[in-house]
Amino acid sequence: MTDRIYYTEPSCRSFDATVTHAVEHDGRPAVMLDRTAFYPTSGGQPFDTGRLGRVDVVEAIDGRDGIVHVVSAPLQPGTGVRGEINWIRRFDHMQQHTGQHVLSAAFDRLLENRTMSFHMGADASTIDLAREVSVVDLDRCLDEANRIVWEDREVSVRFVSPEEASRLPLRKEPGRDGTLRLVEVSDFDLSACGGTHVSRTGAIGMVVVTGTERFRGGCRLTFVCGARASRAFRVYRDVVAGSVRVLSVLPHELPGAIERMQLEAKQSRKTLGRLQETLAGHEALRLLADASSVDGVRIVVHVIDGWDAAGLKAIATALTAHDNVAAALFSSAEPLAAVTARSQRVEIDANRVLRALLERFGGRGGGKPDLAQGAGLTGDPQQIVATARALFTRGG
Ligand SMILES: [Zn+2]
Repeated sequence: MTDRIYYTEPSCRSFDATVTHAVEHDGRPAVMLDRTAFYPTSGGQPFDTGRLGRVDVVEAIDGRDGIVHVVSAPLQPGTGVRGEINWIRRFDHMQQHTGQHVLSAAFDRLLENRTMSFHMGADASTIDLAREVSVVDLDRCLDEANRIVWEDREVSVRFVSPEEASRLPLRKEPGRDGTLRLVEVSDFDLSACGGTHVSRTGAIGMVVVTGTERFRGGCRLTFVCGARASRAFRVYRDVVAGSVRVLSVLPHELPGAIERMQLEAKQSRKTLGRLQETLAGHEALRLLADASSVDGVRIVVHVIDGWDAAGLKAIATALTAHDNVAAALFSSAEPLAAVTARSQRVEIDANRVLRALLERFGGRGGGKPDLAQGAGLTGDPQQIVATARALFTRGG
């Protein structure tokens, strides 16, 4: 078994050790040491990285027989190595993990709202609370957590037997047997935990919740501590500054301004739809004026400039509102959009015409015998028009 230095000396950044085993992990070289300060992924906290002599430690795993260090190059058993922890990464993890204990304890003490699980991500971490939390209560608990941070309370580690633990006011039932490692935030929280923690709460800097969502009957809080809180603030600052500049409003006016814009856009879309319909009616009349008739059916086949797929459909609908019309309309920009349609009593299958066109010129689409839409046709527009005309003349 590996002697875990981080259990008793979480601030240890470098150490001397001997390679006891050379192994493999998922096809990568790995070693086990007699002692290590490398923290392996567990309890929601990700693994440490760093160096063992001249090789990189890229991952640390809590294996059955000890800690497996995945390394960039093999090391022989018996080799003496100096281990160096990537301290920027580890200290960040310590800030987040102790921050989580303080935050969870605040919810526990003020609202009796228990933390069901904890996950530390690369950018942000989450805790899942048993019940939902109001905005007012969320802020109350955050204020309490930050009060504990700024009081710079001591964070200590000790080991107890299960009997001793059963007499202590642990925040959560320990999930394992045997000797327990307890992490205590002075006069605030006592939890069984194997993770690494800062030695005083002041090092957490600040706890900030960046988002909440409903989750399994309770809620999931996304939070950041320390340097991550500072980075998150900068991101929000830039987003807000950029938005208020574009919209010429004050930060607190942003939500209202966006709502107004959404409403205006919705109204504009409605107006545009009505205008397009009117215009499509006029366009249909213009096209009908010089349509050729085949067996009493007026055939309208055209490439229409400056209309999108919805516009083509509006013109086709306006055309076939008249009696005895069959139409195939195409956009002018490649890849082409296509609409085929026919009036109610005309014996042509517009969908079959469209499918024949798609077969020949590519693209996707479909519809019903009276109206079908396609997109992504490629080829010479004049040839597509000629083909459509021929298909109509043959009766679809
Ligand atoms: Zn913990």
